[in-house]
Amino acid sequence: MSNIAFIGLGQMGFPMASNLLKKGHTLKVYDLNREPVKKLEELGAFAANNPKDAAENSEFIITMLPNGQLVKEVIFGKDGVIESVSSQALIIDMSTIHPLESDEIRQQLSCKNIEFMDAPVGRTSDNAISGTLLILAGGTDEQVNRASSVLLCMGSEIINAGGPGKGIRVKLINNFMSIALNALSAEAATLCEALGLPLSTAMSVMAGTPANKGHFTTTWPNKVLKGDLSPAFMIDLAHKDLGLALDVANKLHVPLFMGSASREIYSQARAKGRGRQDWTAILEHVRECAGLNK
Ligand code: NAD
Repeated sequence: MSNIAFIGLGQMGFPMASNLLKKGHTLKVYDLNREPVKKLEELGAFAANNPKDAAENSEFIITMLPNGQLVKEVIFGKDGVIESVSSQALIIDMSTIHPLESDEIRQQLSCKNIEFMDAPVGRTSDNAISGTLLILAGGTDEQVNRASSVLLCMGSEIINAGGPGKGIRVKLINNFMSIALNALSAEAATLCEALGLPLSTAMSVMAGTPANKGHFTTTWPNKVLKGDLSPAFMIDLAHKDLGLALDVANKLHVPLFMGSASREIYSQARAKGRGRQDWTAILEHVRECAGLNK
């Protein structure tokens, strides 16, 4: 069992810290808000007066804070972790922060020979309560191995993202896609309602199509990811079908921002001569626009 400091006891941090306690770790906890600190004290944790106090004699220092600025303050600010942390300790930031801020923190700590890894989490606060978070570990293999038994007290699955800074990067991609998809899904559901269709009908149709399953595991593996752009379903036809939906939506006064933006991408791909390529060639088109497929 380890001596752990836990800083940031909100919606996520409080249940994560509780689970570490339940698994028998010795915990020192700190939050600006004294309420969760008191509650954890009642459950057996030690209350720290500041991050410095929490970090003293701790083997692991976990931060779960709203943003990178606060993570920096807690580590490098007045009475910060840096003032007491041992050179044997490992600081694990589990917050979702800007990857470049995370890199900056790791580099500053590395200059002082202090180890740092990013380990943001996927899933929700319900999973934080049940200890079933998905943990995206960004560290050296040695750091990930060292932290894994502690991380598994809070999550049911650890994905080694492949090196320092990679956990926070993959978290960003995951959130980008699921947050944008949420808006696209809302547009599809709204169009469905405006067309007088029960959402349940659309859901049962889409259950077996890329609309619900996504493209990564359905259309892409045997086409664009293999370099095969011969058409199974042409970009021209995808563009036409998207246009039909946008036209109907327009007549029903349903705004489709995500849909309209997508059509522009297909239009641009057609203008670049990709109309008769498979619709998965959209990946190649977007990569080309980003200057990546040289
Ligand atoms: P929250 O706002 O509920 O909790 C943040 C806690 O940090 C609060 O208790 C606050 O008092 C404390 N805090 C702020 N500044 C502090 C400081 N200087 N020193 C000590 N404590 C300080 O946020 P949350 O929902 O627990 O999210 C924490 C992190 O987890 C965020 O980066 C968030 O993006 C990420 N996350 C949240 C969820 C979710 O479903 N809520 C899911 C995955 C990841």
